[in-house]
Order: sequence, then structure tokens, then C-alpha cells
Amino acid sequence: MHSFRHFIDGRFVPAVGGASLEVFEPASGSVYATVADGDVADVDAAVTAAARAFPAWSAAPAEERARLLHAIADAVAARSEEFAIAESRDTGKPRSLARNMDVVRGIANCRFFAAAAVQFASESHVTDLAVNYTLRNPHGVVACISPWNLPLLLFTWKVAPALAAGNCVVAKPSELTPATATMFVEAAAAAGLPPGVLNIVHGRGVSAGQALVEHPGVRAISFTGGSATGAHIAATAAPAFKKLSLELGGKNPNLVFADCDFERTVEESVRAAFLNQGQICLCGSRIYIERPLYERFRDAFVARAGRLQVGDPDEPGSDLGALTSKGHMDKVLAAIATARSEGGRVLCGGERVRLAGRCADGWFVAPTVIEGLAPDCRTDQEEIFGPVVTLAPFDSENEAVTLANGTRYGLVASLWTRDLDRAHRIARRIEAGIVWVNCWMLRDLRTPFGGTKASGVGREGGLEAMHFFTEPRNVCIRVRGAGGE
Ligand code: NAD
Repeated sequence: MHSFRHFIDGRFVPAVGGASLEVFEPASGSVYATVADGDVADVDAAVTAAARAFPAWSAAPAEERARLLHAIADAVAARSEEFAIAESRDTGKPRSLARNMDVVRGIANCRFFAAAAVQFASESHVTDLAVNYTLRNPHGVVACISPWNLPLLLFTWKVAPALAAGNCVVAKPSELTPATATMFVEAAAAAGLPPGVLNIVHGRGVSAGQALVEHPGVRAISFTGGSATGAHIAATAAPAFKKLSLELGGKNPNLVFADCDFERTVEESVRAAFLNQGQICLCGSRIYIERPLYERFRDAFVARAGRLQVGDPDEPGSDLGALTSKGHMDKVLAAIATARSEGGRVLCGGERVRLAGRCADGWFVAPTVIEGLAPDCRTDQEEIFGPVVTLAPFDSENEAVTLANGTRYGLVASLWTRDLDRAHRIARRIEAGIVWVNCWMLRDLRTPFGGTKASGVGREGGLEAMHFFTEPRNVCIRVRGAGGE
């Protein structure tokens, strides 16, 4: 059986204490590998190695860091199908999705931040008396902690800008999905990344993750995961004044107006609800529809959701694969039971799907559409993070905005209308880090990415990421003779 080990100082090593965890294949419900279960000793070894590598890495010319990031992207691209197979087996997502989204974006993240390394510039401020310029120095050792839903995509989304800016990294991927991060560091080493620059410590959040957040050698933490974990990390790291970027949960509204492009809105709303089995923080899980369109939209949406194929992730025809863990499947099924107890009518799905053959014990849930719930019910307030959406009508633009803003989250929102004035008006009033108009998950890597309220603190992407991974220092030089002196 394969075992995923830590990667510290350029070498794969087991946990110092020898502990390991089982890794499951969600589609079959069976164990297919083990992963090192790290703790304080492993984290300390990784931070020490990263600190040792930092002086040379941070002094390397930006062109060299960019060259290496491109070389890593090439190395991943050369093994892209292997990465897609591994990502699909680890997460349960359709292999086609892993191939077309996760691996493509993993490579794109490296190339994007390779370019950022050489194009990054800082500001200067000039007055009659002085020239100020801003130095942007890397922090030193930074922690990158990522979740299980998009393992390679979110790992590279953090690691690439951290390295581009000249930091050394200790990363902790989710213990549920360790495969592609491990393959990535192998590819990075083969591409020539020096030992210690990028390290991985595997293991559980409460032990390996906690030790990393607490380690005094870690100056900045980039975290993506649940809001409760984010709050705990913030409480741990704040007294040590560590810089924090927290990308957390969402309960995203999707506002459908009667003047929308109907077919496209239905199609994209179904995609926004169920892509990756609904396990994307950006998924639109609360769909509000202007009342005159409600029944037509509901019927078309349910018909389309009902046609989605839940199946073996290896089969090209599968639209949805398995949920990533048994515990998560149970949580999603419990949320559906809660929706029923709150008076929700399940229009389609609502249950576990039992497939035949190798997937007989896999963790599959049918795309589920629910109506008839009040906006303040638990179903519409708590993140479910599965293939579950609710539908409800609204009567006015004001009501739509109130509903959209009516949760503790504020990650993203989509709105569907042909009225440009309305789109601008609503975009200004929605409490979210991203508002998509007539689209969903249309990403430009230069734009600020992140959430408000319980969806997080800080932004990733483009310049925001380069700013997060550097410390600004103002240098002020008096200019004698200028300004009449
Ligand atoms: P999680 O919070 O349970 O775990 C995320 C990571 O943090 C894992 O690697 C885990 O081991 C680690 N961790 C857990 N406890 C820790 C601790 N005390 N200290 C340090 N690290 C710790 O989240 P998850 O269940 O893996 O992922 C799902 C969540 O992630 C959802 O809430 C989803 O919305 C969110 N998410 C957000 C974004 C975004 O960009 N905003 C993107 C993807 C997922």
C-alpha cells in the first residue's frame, strides 16, 4: 500500500513518532494508502529546514524564482494525467473535473506567480522634501494550510505566491487528501527547487496544523478551510502577531431576476450548485428567484438537476462523484434531514446513492433541491458544502439584497439579469468578496479573492497575494535643495 510521507529539507521522511493515518478512496469507501501523522517534532524539523534555506532563496534573483516556478509547472504538466487520476482517487471527484479544473489551475497558478515574481513592483511617494520608496521583503518561513475540496488547486494558490515573493514554505495539506501535494513537491524537487524551500508536514489539524500555527519560527499563515477552524487559528496566532490570511466558508446567494437569459441562468445555476458535488466554497447554495419566474425556473432547474449522472469518478459520463469523506457524507445527509424537519420539500435527490460494482460502498449523494423553507432556518444559515440547494421566491430588489446578505457569511454572490443598472446597484449592496453578474466562477487570477464577515479576512490573488507574502518597509530620503531649502 502506498504511503505518503512528509517532505522535509528535500527528502521524503516518515513521521518522527512513526505514526500514520489511513487514506480512503471515497468512490469505493476503502483504504488505499497511509499518510504520515506529524506533530510538533515534524513541524520543528520542517521549519528549521525552511529557515536554513531562506537566506539563499530570498537572495536569489526574481528571474531565478520565476524560472523554477515555470520548471515546476512544466514538470506537473508532463505528468498531468497522473495528477488527475490521483486527485480524483483522493477526493472522489470525477476524473474529468480533476483533469480540466484542478490540474489546469494548479499549473496556471505556478505560471501566474512566476510572472508575478518578475513583474512585482513597489510604490514611491515624492514630495518637495523627500522621496519615499517601499521595500517589499519576504517574511521568512510561512505556513500554507489547505483543505480537501480542491487539494492541488488551493495548495498551489498559496505556495506559488509565497515562493515567488521569496519566502520558504512549510505546507500542511488536508490529511484527507495528501496525494497531489506530495506529488507536487516531488515534481518541484525534480525541477531543481533547492532543499528546504518547500516542505510538507502531513497530519491532522489538531496536531500537525496546530503545531505549525504555534511555531515561533512561522511569521505568516495562509489558511483555507472552515470558519470555526479559521477562528481558532486566529485566536492562536494573533497574540504572536503573525500575519494572517483566512479564506473560510460560504453560503452563497444566487439571485435570479425575471429578465435573465433563462436557459443560460438555469444551466449555470445548476453548475454553481453541484460542481465538485457542491464542495466548492464558491458554490451557489441559496437560489432566490423573482416570483413571476419562480415556478418556471424551479421546474427547469429540478429537471436539469435530475439528469445529472452520479457515478464512478473514473467514468467519463459521471457529472458528480463521491463526497470526500464518510464523515462529510453523514453531515450532508443530516443537513437534508434537518431541512425536512424544518418543513422543506425535497424536490429531487435527498438521499445517498448506492452504485454497483467497485463503488457499492462509495460515499455518493444525489443532487438535492429543496423549497419551502424560511430564510432564517438552519438549512439556509449553515454551510452544508454538499450537493444541496434551496429555492425561494422574492418580490423586490430590496428583498433580494436582504436575503442575500442575511447570513453570517459573505464570500461570493451571483446575480442574473439583463438590466445593467440593477446589476450595478446590487453589486454595491451585496456583502461579499466577489459579485458575479451573469456568470459564476469566472476567474481572473489578478483579481482580489476572498470573503467578508465569517467568510474570512484578507484577500488572495494577484497583487494581493504578493502583498500578503511580503512585509512593506518605507524608506524615506530627504532631498536637500529641493522645495526651496
Ligand atoms: P478544515 O477547517 O477542517 O481544515 C482545513 C485545513 O486546516 C486542513 O488541512 C486541516 O487539517 C487544518 N486544520 C484543522 N484544524 C487546525 C488547527 N487547529 N490548526 C491548524 N490547522 C488546522 O476545513 P475542511 O473541512 O478541510 O474544508 C472545508 C471548508 O473549507 C469549508 O468550510 C469551505 O467553505 C472552506 N473553503 C474555503 C475556501 C475559500 O477560498 N474561502 C476554499 C475552499 C474551502
